[in-house]
This record gives sequence, C-alpha cells and structure tokens, in this order.
Amino acid sequence: MQELPVDRPRFECTGCGRCCYGGEGYYVAVTAAECRAMAACLGISLSWLRRRYLEPGEQGGYSIRFADDGACVFLAETGCRIYPVRPLQCRTYPWWPEILRSKQAWRAEAKRCEGIGRGKVVPRHVIIASLRLSRA
Ligand code: SF4
Ligand code: SF4
Repeated sequence: MQELPVDRPRFECTGCGRCCYGGEGYYVAVTAAECRAMAACLGISLSWLRRRYLEPGEQGGYSIRFADDGACVFLAETGCRIYPVRPLQCRTYPWWPEILRSKQAWRAEAKRCEGIGRGKVVPRHVIIASLRLSRA
C-alpha cells in the first residue's frame, strides 16, 4: 500500500476559488478529450475553443488561458463555467503528487487553499484514487 507523507489529511472545499488562479508555476493542462468535452459544453467548435480559451502548454499540448488578473478564463462570479467537464487536474486538486510529496509541500499549499486542514479527515482510498488519476 502506498505511503502518504501527510498523516490523516483534512480537507473541505469552501468554494473560495483561489485554486482557479494561475501564476507561480500553476497552469491547467488539458487533454484532447477534455478539449472536445469543453467545446461541447460551451457549444463552440474546437478551433474556436483553442483560439479563445487555450494557449500552448508548457509541456506541449494546450493549457487553459488565464486572464490578466490571473483568473482562469472559465471562472465566473457563479463559479466554473465548465464545471461538469472541468479538466482532471481541477477535479483532483489538491490530491496532486507535488502537493502530497511532503508535509512541507502540503502546508505550503495550505497558504493558497483555505480548504486544506479544514473539515474531516479524507479517507485514504479517496486520496490514492485521485493521485492515480492525476498521474495517469
Ligand atoms: S482554493 Fe481550496 S478551498 Fe478554495 S475553491 Fe480551491 S479547493 Fe476549494
Ligand atoms: S476550469 Fe474551472 S475549475 Fe478549473 S481552474 Fe478553470 S474555473 Fe477553476
């Protein structure tokens, strides 16, 4: 069984939206299948999605654009405009390998995400499943 460096992590999302802001090395990479799902959700073509909402990714492919204020272009006052089809990276936050690699990394992320350290202990199998997804 995989060990987690963070013992009994607690997490409860408050909906503050801070994780939907880029900068400081944060970006949201998207797969081709996620692009098709986002375009369908918005009722636009793939080429329009790429022109208006995406940019070339740091590791090839595409990532979601961030506006001048740092917010994801899909972030609206009411929340994520593509919530049902939001990318895997968004769905698995904060259970990312780089955030769970050490206690220090977990605590550092808590400065960005106020949900870290709140609420109930998240079951280990939930975290492991998200980690596997985010590594895939
Ligand atoms: S930063 Fe954390 S608490 Fe705020 S919306 Fe994102 S996951 Fe939820
Ligand atoms: S796609 Fe949605 S959940 Fe993901 S960063 Fe943008 S607004 Fe947030």
